[in-house]
Amino acid sequence: MSRALIVVDVQNDFCEGGSLAVAGGAAVAAAISEHIPTAGYDHVVATRDHHIDPGRHFADQPDFLETWPAHCVVGTGGVELHEALDRRPLEAIFDKGEYAAAYSGFEGSSDGVALADWLRGRGVDSVDVVGIATDHCVRATALDAVGNKFAARVLLHLTAGVTDGTTDAAIEELRMAGVQLEGEVHRP
Ligand SMILES: [Zn+2]
Repeated sequence: MSRALIVVDVQNDFCEGGSLAVAGGAAVAAAISEHIPTAGYDHVVATRDHHIDPGRHFADQPDFLETWPAHCVVGTGGVELHEALDRRPLEAIFDKGEYAAAYSGFEGSSDGVALADWLRGRGVDSVDVVGIATDHCVRATALDAVGNKFAARVLLHLTAGVTDGTTDAAIEELRMAGVQLEGEVHRP
């Protein structure tokens, strides 16, 4: 019985100044750093969008639903974790999306180990999910957490969404899937 925090995609390109900036991203990074030492997690991990050539995930004329401006490209500063996120508590970083879109952290791996296996190997049975963006990668990661039989909770005040409409839809979908929700999502 242990509990982990999954910090989803708190990367430069998803924060202010990045190529796919989500309003409130930098504030979320700082708030997560403050939250971690007070919350008593047994384990803390992060995920990163980590693109090399993800095909149709990138588009010159993106729709911001399924296609996006280039972001989090390996070898650029945009792929790095935001400086306001304290890296010291992070035990592992799970990279995803090298050659195709990958919204869920459960598609990621760290040193060849998939996230679900890493968590199970440490006796984790419940996870908190925070990060960017509420309506995309946080949503997909939390849904996969319950799909993988972890009890899952999203701390909405430690997330930021791309748009209000898709964020509201994601929150309802998470609720229906049995994900516990706490706090209020950041709305600029
Ligand atoms: Zn991506």
